[in-house]
Amino acid sequence: MKASRKDTRRKSLFDESMEAFYRAAELIKLDPRVRLELEEPDFEHIFYITIETRDRLVPVTKEDEARFKDLPASSVKAGEALEPLANGQLVLHRRALLKADITLREGVLRIPKRGLFRIEKGGPKKFKAYRIQYNQVRGPYKGGVRFHKDVSLDLFKALAADMTWKTAIADIPFGGAKGGVRIDPSAYSKEEIEHVSLRFIYKLKSVIGPYVDIPAPDVNTNPEIMAIMMRQVTDGERMPHAMRGVVTGKDVRIGGSEGRAKATGQGTVYCLEEWARWRGESLAGKRVLVQGFGNVGTASAEILHALGAKIVGVQDAYGTVHNEKGLDVPALLAHAATPDNLRRSVEGFTGGTKVAREDFWKLDAEIAIPAALGGSITGDVAENLKVQVVAEAANGPTTPEGDKVLGERKIDLIPDIICNAGGVTVSYYEWLQNLRMEHWTEADVNNRLERAIKANLGIIHDIATNSPQKTPLYDSRRFVVGKKIDMRTAAMALALRRIENHYLLEGFSQ
Ligand code: NAD
Repeated sequence: MKASRKDTRRKSLFDESMEAFYRAAELIKLDPRVRLELEEPDFEHIFYITIETRDRLVPVTKEDEARFKDLPASSVKAGEALEPLANGQLVLHRRALLKADITLREGVLRIPKRGLFRIEKGGPKKFKAYRIQYNQVRGPYKGGVRFHKDVSLDLFKALAADMTWKTAIADIPFGGAKGGVRIDPSAYSKEEIEHVSLRFIYKLKSVIGPYVDIPAPDVNTNPEIMAIMMRQVTDGERMPHAMRGVVTGKDVRIGGSEGRAKATGQGTVYCLEEWARWRGESLAGKRVLVQGFGNVGTASAEILHALGAKIVGVQDAYGTVHNEKGLDVPALLAHAATPDNLRRSVEGFTGGTKVAREDFWKLDAEIAIPAALGGSITGDVAENLKVQVVAEAANGPTTPEGDKVLGERKIDLIPDIICNAGGVTVSYYEWLQNLRMEHWTEADVNNRLERAIKANLGIIHDIATNSPQKTPLYDSRRFVVGKKIDMRTAAMALALRRIENHYLLEGFSQ
């Protein structure tokens, strides 16, 4: 029997994520001072934000239900004043009391069709927040804002470093940053999340700006949040219109770019088109697994489906669906967008069968797209994958052990720092459009994105296969290292060369 591969997480996420950095630095003989500059972030901003929260209605425990079984139902006329949260609680807005007819016992009431709830008092809450500015030698710091219960300094350092390599690989004039708030968004109302967003950006106001540090959406943040962050920074400024580029990923109606919402998924698909072309194949008919059905997962699935690929399995935080003939992606998108589907989940979709969480990556397919959180392709998962390629749409989805197994099993890899670079590339186009007061068409954006992703992936592939060449799109001759290497190290080698140029040609101020 094969021994099970256990990922022993003895190192920090940051140390793990830097393994490719050290491999590539050795290989290309990175200048020692540049190496020291790149080993740690420029700045680590760690701070706290506070907000006022509303009272809640919290479902009573199973044991308590019996005690209140004769409690009459209350009638709340202003129905929308009870805001359902994804965690099953209801936020009690004050207007709920208008014309209400309420029976309370020991602080418990019965809401028709919803059940028994205990009133819990709101009040001030404190959250830990971060903004890591990793490196700015190539341009302003750039990176997303994540709202999640499991974030940490360690994670944000790793993600901010990744942004530094990614902006260099995409060859856009930005550095790397990342940040966010340690919060479980499923437990807070829209208004409370808005207050968290406003306080977060208010505290950062003195260290961000269109030429300093430019946040964007990441997990659990979106164009609406970018809009209010932009307003928070620009309100009261003498030239607010000149500062619209302070955040990217905005709605197209207020200075966002056409194509930005789907850009990360689109970039992943451009990478997969190239991967198929190297094999003399096309994506039509290929079977695909997508983990994560948020911004990146939905766009990847939708675009691949339109190209004739079959999305045979989708998994999110709450459920997994499978259909070996291919899921009806437009129907799945509509299911996730149903207003009462508060978690935006694929769970309960009737166009496929339910699969146990742990069996998802074992499904038959040619392409695996992790588009959720980090660390999902572990050594064990990699042992059981049946696919030909892993396209890392998420940041850091493969553990070092997973990486080793993929290599041993000769499963192709499109590393995250190129595979999901479409988002930051179109963020750069958005920033350019804001500074120039222009509005480009979606076709213009996608043409530029396609050229950029395919050229830079081409260079990485040439470095990996040691095939220096000059094509009409790019010149890989000065980047190859004289031997074949894996794709992740090749991507890092390209990033480090481009960053090193800045230090060596501009010199160090003393
Ligand atoms: P999102 O919040 O829109 O969606 C996240 C999805 O992942 C949701 O469907 C959620 O249910 C699912 N998920 C969470 N935990 C899971 C778990 N344990 N198992 C399975 N599914 C799980 O986030 P997003 O913006 O789509 O980002 C997804 C990934 O892509 C992240 O790693 C992010 O850093 C990366 N990324 C995003 C962008 C962008 O433009 N949004 C750009 C580059 C990289």
